[in-house]
Amino acid sequence: MRILLIGPPGAGKGTQAVRLAAHLSIPHISTGDLFREHIDQGTELGRTARTHIHAGLLVPDEVTIGVIKERLTRPDTERGFLLDGFPRNLAQAQALDGILADSELRLDAVLDLAIAEGQVVRRIAGRRLCRQDREHIFHVDYSPPQEAGVCDVCGGELYQREDDREATVRQRLEVYRTETASVVDLYQAQGLVTTISAHGRVQEVLHRALDAIGQGQADAADTSM
Ligand code: ADP
Repeated sequence: MRILLIGPPGAGKGTQAVRLAAHLSIPHISTGDLFREHIDQGTELGRTARTHIHAGLLVPDEVTIGVIKERLTRPDTERGFLLDGFPRNLAQAQALDGILADSELRLDAVLDLAIAEGQVVRRIAGRRLCRQDREHIFHVDYSPPQEAGVCDVCGGELYQREDDREATVRQRLEVYRTETASVVDLYQAQGLVTTISAHGRVQEVLHRALDAIGQGQADAADTSM
């Protein structure tokens, strides 16, 4: 399956993407994570990405599209993929269309995670990531680790993303409204979008997401994280 996950910051895309991808045995491709890898490795691309990410702005399209193009040529994407955080504007959506059309492929579904804006800042302010594996995501109130500051899965140190400060979050929300919301409209016109509520417990949202893509046997879904 080839699936897109779209939603404002704080909707829980990353949290759901990890679980959905594991359930469907397809790679989880997050542009945010790809950029953070570059930042950690100190690459030139990472330096460019960092400036924009810290300001709550989109990384320039030519950089982002290059990263995605490279990732989508890796062999593990032959059985499908779950894209998390791309495309985030119409130019990126067009580029994705082109990449898929070159291989005569199409998207199967777009999942739009909807959340009330009032919830976003609270969710993001409490988010903590594991330094050893960014797919291990916690929340100080909603999904706390057993021991504060320590990852339950691997014992790694938990930290807060630098772009999770309130002012940056508000800017990211603004970018979502002005640039990314139109991507949802575009796929809506193609009949690909299912909007699901991002409220409630992680497992409830996962059930909704699996139902929406016709994989509703969520009991089989991984509940270990
Ligand atoms: P969130 O979905 O919570 O905003 P992400 O990890 O997906 O977090 O993205 C973090 C930041 O990385 C974004 O605010 C943006 O600066 C950059 N980014 C991620 N995906 C893209 C993209 N497709 N195009 C441009 N910038 C992106």
